[in-house]
Order: sequence, then C-alpha cells, then structure tokens
Amino acid sequence: MNQRYLLALDQGTTSSRAVLFTKEGQMVSSAAFEFKQHYPQPGWVEHDPQDILTTQIEALRAAVRQSQIDPKEIAAIGITNQRETTLVWDRMTGQPAYNAIVWQCRRTADMVDDLNREGHADLIRRKTGLKPDAYFSATKLRWLLDHCGLQQAAEAGRYCFGTVDSWLAWHLVAGHPHVTDATNASRTMLYNVLTQDWDEELLSLFNIPRAMMPRVCDSAELIGLLNEDILGVPIPVAAIAGDQHAALFGQACFDRGMVKNTYGTGCFMLMNIGDTFRLSEHGLLTTTAWRLNGRPTYALEGSVFIGGAAIQWLRDELGMIRTAAESEQLAQEIPDNGGVYLVPAFTGLGAPYWDMYARGTIVGLTRGSGRRHIVRAALESIAYQSNDLLQAMAQDNGGLPPALRVDGGASANRFLMQFQADLMRLPVQRPAVLETTALGAALLAGLAVGLYASLPETAQGWHVADTFTPALPAADSQRLLDGWRGAVRRTLSEA
Ligand code: ADP
Repeated sequence: MNQRYLLALDQGTTSSRAVLFTKEGQMVSSAAFEFKQHYPQPGWVEHDPQDILTTQIEALRAAVRQSQIDPKEIAAIGITNQRETTLVWDRMTGQPAYNAIVWQCRRTADMVDDLNREGHADLIRRKTGLKPDAYFSATKLRWLLDHCGLQQAAEAGRYCFGTVDSWLAWHLVAGHPHVTDATNASRTMLYNVLTQDWDEELLSLFNIPRAMMPRVCDSAELIGLLNEDILGVPIPVAAIAGDQHAALFGQACFDRGMVKNTYGTGCFMLMNIGDTFRLSEHGLLTTTAWRLNGRPTYALEGSVFIGGAAIQWLRDELGMIRTAAESEQLAQEIPDNGGVYLVPAFTGLGAPYWDMYARGTIVGLTRGSGRRHIVRAALESIAYQSNDLLQAMAQDNGGLPPALRVDGGASANRFLMQFQADLMRLPVQRPAVLETTALGAALLAGLAVGLYASLPETAQGWHVADTFTPALPAADSQRLLDGWRGAVRRTLSEA
C-alpha cells in the first residue's frame, strides 16, 4: 500500500490535538479535545495524566475517522507536546504517582530562589543553556519526589520520570518504551546539551536518581509501533519534539539564522543557530532545536509574556472590542498611532529587559486619543516586543534573518503582520499551513521512516501563503522604535 500520510499528535496545555497531513504537507483532517485544568492553590497548575492520555487517543481516532483514509496508509506518527510539564509513574503498573505538574506552575519558585542564592545559576546556564526557573522540570520533579515520598523507591528503579512526550510514548507505543527526545530533555534543567546526556552534576544538585530518567532519543527516530488496539494497525511512532521546536521545524527553518515567531497568548521566537552551542548575551535561552542522527542543532529562544493576551485584555477587561479579529479594522481606521504606546508589562518584562517588577503603561495620551489608538497601540506592542527579541537574537548570532516566518492565532491579523514587517524591515512570511507545530512533528516522523530522503526534501512540505513586505520609510520605523524605547523606559521598575 502506498503510505502517503503522516499523523501528528499535538499535546498542548489546554487541549490534545491530532492532525493528519499528506506527504506534501497538506492538512487532511484534525480533531482536538480540551481537558480540565486543575488549580489546587493560587499559582499552582496541574493536569490529570489520564485526561492527557484519553483526550489524545480520542483526538487521534477522530482525526483518522474524519479523513476516511485507511489507517494502513499512515506512514508514521510524530509526537509534539507542551514542554517541561512533569510526570512520575510506576514502572510496573504505569500508574501516575501524582498529577502532572504543568510548566506554568509556580509552586517551586522558592527552590529556584535558593538555587540562585547558592550560586548555581552559572553552572546551570553553561550546561543547559537555561536561566534557572520554576518552569523547567527539575524543581517540579524534586517537589514530586519529596511530596510523594518516592526517593528511595525511585533510586531502586521503581518510578519513571517523564515529560508529556514520555508519558504518551510509554502508553501509546507497544512495549512501553521509556524515552524522551533531545528537545524535551533540554527543557528539564537536568540535561547537558553539550554532551547530549543527563548530567551527573545536575542530577546530584537536585538529588534526582538516574534510574528514573528516560533514554534520550533523536527528534526523528523510530521509537516503536503504535499499540494495535488504538487504530487496529501497528503504525511506526517515529518522532518526538517539544512544541516550539516542532514549530521551528514545521516552518522549515533548517538553516542557521532562520527565525520563526508564534503569535499566541504569548509569543515564542526561535532562531536556528546551527550546530555550535552558544550562550546569549541578551538574556535569551539556548535550547536544542532538534537532534538528527545523534547531531544536535541549537536555537536561541525568547518569549513575549503578553502577546495576544493584550488583545484579550482589551476585550475582557476594558470591553473595547468584542472579538480579537475586530482589532484589525479598528487599528486601520486611523493613519498612525497618534503618539500612543502601550507597554503590556502586566507580569513584568522578559528578554532583553528582564524586569519582573515592571508593570503595564500607556504613554502619549492626548485629548484626541481614543479607543482606536489604544487598540492600535496594543497590536503594535506585540510587534515591538517581537522586534526587541529579534534584534537581541541578531546581535547574538551575527545578523538578521532573510525573513521572519510566522504562525499562531494572532498571525491572522494582517495589520499586525504588516506592522511587523515595517518595524523589522524584513519580509514576514505566513505559511499555508498555520498548524506548524503539528506539521513539524509530522515532517520529523516522515524523515525518520524515509518518506523524505533528506532534510531539504522535507522543506517541500512548507509553502508560503502570504508575504508582508516592508512599506514604511526607514525614518518612520526608526521614529516609532524610538517612541517605543521611551515608553519602555518609563515602564521599567527603577524608572
Ligand atoms: P494559544 O495557543 O496561546 O492559546 P492561539 O495561537 O490560539 O494562542 O492564539 C490566541 C491568541 O491570539 C489570543 O490571545 C487572541 O487574543 C489572539 N488573537 C486571535 N486572533 C487575533 C486577531 N485576529 N488579531 C489579534 N489577536 C488575535
């Protein structure tokens, strides 16, 4: 049978999705199921591991059913997932020891303060590329071992640690492989991205037993066969990658210097920096972009905390708009920003500013300022913050990319995309398939099973649909950037 299809399992923070693609990268069908978020205390976030599993299997079955193809035609399955979320389960029974502790959960913030106070930040950064934070898995795993009293049994090999990809692979693949891939491993704060192995010094810093760590595989590697009871056929499960890494791959950013930005609630920008690990001098993280045939490619990563969330805020808190999409027209009804800038530092500012005590500001209001100016300023703030990240990356990596590749919900906004191109003075490319995370996992799986002969051939699955070209005179972009910098200065906590 001609195997022309690839299936991606995209396990996200609020829903589990499955997307079926043709070999050429066209979307055939998709299905998604939301699951419950648990907030046992302020700042704590958990998922029920069983919910993650059952919604993922439901989504997988629904996507295949909807497509009406014979499952035998699926060449391979790729897994992509919310990163850093931490699980522990019993190796004998597969039962979780506790809920999954979600990346957003702040319960271990004190532990991270201690690490910084005790002077471990530099060691962690040199080995992992990460700035110590409660997001990453290490402190969450420490909390689980303490809270559930599992240390001794874990040392004896009774328990498995895993991120969501490991949890899914264990339960979906025949023979219960205990694996994770190099991208997910690179978000644990326990993995040495230079040696590509769990790091003894970091394991002992957190007192994590090596016996509970998964085998780290390539991002494109045959892990095993899908349990036959799921679709009735044993399809190869052949890729794992964290969501942002899969999106970089799905945007075909295969060459050094290429960049993608995802415009969601927050924005996530990743730049491929090739096969040489380097630390950022501008507060960005270094991460493993993917690992193929044992060889890692690295990426710089930066995020905007409040991206599309600024538009949600206009809608839900200020009641200025009814829908996010309406912001586009309102912004276009005025010729310029009228000198109004909004810095949505609602939870502080990340790279390149790193000021956790900064708070949101609107500057430049006059008697003539109105709703449209605020809406426009909110949209523009997404572009300014993304531009700040790009400039930091360009300085770290020695130059700007040829173009910015975009995806995510807010990339639908044409005003925002054009403004982004005008500010960065770069073409902004929006692909035909905006499900780049899922596409990346599918392409990686296709690469692993030989559906594509090489990496360049994989790029044939990426097609640009819209290009936004810079149209604003350079002097005008510069004037706007100066205005933004002035607004940020007034937002910073020491100002
Ligand atoms: P996430 O994956 O983070 O949930 P999505 O990729 O689904 O996010 O994008 C949703 C975000 O994008 C929301 O914050 C929403 O306000 C914003 N958004 C969606 N459509 C538009 C639009 N047309 N213009 C501006 N913002 C938008």
